[in-house]
Amino acid sequence: MLKKVLIANRGEIALRIHRACHEMGIKTVAIHSTADEDAMHVRLADESVCVGPPASVDSYLNMPAILTAAEITGADGIHPGYGFLSENARFAEIVEEHGIAFIGPSADHIRTMGDKITAKDTVKALGIPVVPGSDGGITDDEEAFRVVKEIGLPVIIKASSGGGGRGMKIVREESELSSALTACRKESKAAFGDDAVYIEKFLLKPRHIEFQLIGDKHGNCIHLGERDCSLQRRHQKVLEEAPSPVIDDETRERMGGIISKAMANLGYAGAGTIEFLYEDGEFYFIEMNTRVQVEHPVTEMITGIDIVREQIRVASGEKLSYTQDMVRFFGHAIECRINAEHPFTFVPNPGTVTQYHPPGGLNVRCDSAVYAGYKIPPYYDSMIAKLIVSGYTREGCLLRLKRSLGEYVIDGVTTTIPLHMALMENEDFQSGDYDIHWLEKFLENKVE
Ligand code: ADP
Repeated sequence: MLKKVLIANRGEIALRIHRACHEMGIKTVAIHSTADEDAMHVRLADESVCVGPPASVDSYLNMPAILTAAEITGADGIHPGYGFLSENARFAEIVEEHGIAFIGPSADHIRTMGDKITAKDTVKALGIPVVPGSDGGITDDEEAFRVVKEIGLPVIIKASSGGGGRGMKIVREESELSSALTACRKESKAAFGDDAVYIEKFLLKPRHIEFQLIGDKHGNCIHLGERDCSLQRRHQKVLEEAPSPVIDDETRERMGGIISKAMANLGYAGAGTIEFLYEDGEFYFIEMNTRVQVEHPVTEMITGIDIVREQIRVASGEKLSYTQDMVRFFGHAIECRINAEHPFTFVPNPGTVTQYHPPGGLNVRCDSAVYAGYKIPPYYDSMIAKLIVSGYTREGCLLRLKRSLGEYVIDGVTTTIPLHMALMENEDFQSGDYDIHWLEKFLENKVE
């Protein structure tokens, strides 16, 4: 087992990883920028190293500084968390070349899944259903028109290297196709350094349903069921739940079985998520994330399995602690992402948190690195906390969530707690009847 893990991240996920390490008797090394000197992840870690100035490119993305920090502290593993370097194949490669375990899948698997066109081809060949669209990348307009004729409008143009909800353009009229292609290529080149794009059928009322899986280096791969992440704004998740209100046990078992078998065949070792759009009873693959996800706690709440612990075990060369038939699903869990933003316009609002008191009680989990007096730096993501609750039923879970949101004290900054409160009061949400476009419509009414 690894002895000392460097956590190449910040905020709540850095704390989350630190907690798993300490429960396993593993020492931790925090890295931080000069803006994060007083951050909780730095306070809790056994050691810490400053890796650069505030801007992420100079600190949390600074590979030489992070590797040096690992070398001087004698870390034998690096956990990248999510975001930052977590899906950077070159980083994974360099870490391993230095004789340090990268806590994530192989660089090859990160590379394959990081390119959305290759990822789609790969999973299709493994028997996983994909969204109808172009066969690979689109190189000229003629090809684009041919694809559109075949699958019909509307379509979505996507950047092969895109992520975080960026690099996508919806086309509803044929006359918009050519200019949308050019714009998407240009934007993608500027944002991701790659202008490869592809076309997919734009689904009108799908849900976003993703499966959590984890594989080890001994050929085992299990699935931990699905999460429903259909509540989104600008293609970004706002609230997630498990299980999905629309997936039954038989479907879960069937899809989970297909996915874990496919990933075992690929020799995938680490945690991963396969994302689907789900419409009229059909699943369509959209992408795979080769890392731990923000919303992993809802799965942990209904399975009792510590996903980060399993990641560390796998990277240490151990077998998974569970076989598929040991995985049991219990009750329901929901996560609210709490951002330092206006609840309905989402304008960021960094500042100093003057008072802080998280909710508690049975089956309530708060993953956050905030404390009273904490100054939220303006340089990074505005998510400051995740409130996760579970209950025997979805209904009970909603009541507990409402109670917990009401107890949450975060003074000094505006947060998205009122948005979550409003969701709890909404009948569509209460009934579980919503698709990926629902939240945007709900917000339109709120802002006017
Ligand atoms: P990213 O890597 O940026 O997260 P994804 O491919 O995972 O991009 O898509 C993010 C979200 O965009 C999805 O959850 C969904 O809401 C929307 N989306 C993506 N592809 C389609 C599609 N073919 N039809 C409708 N919506 C889509």
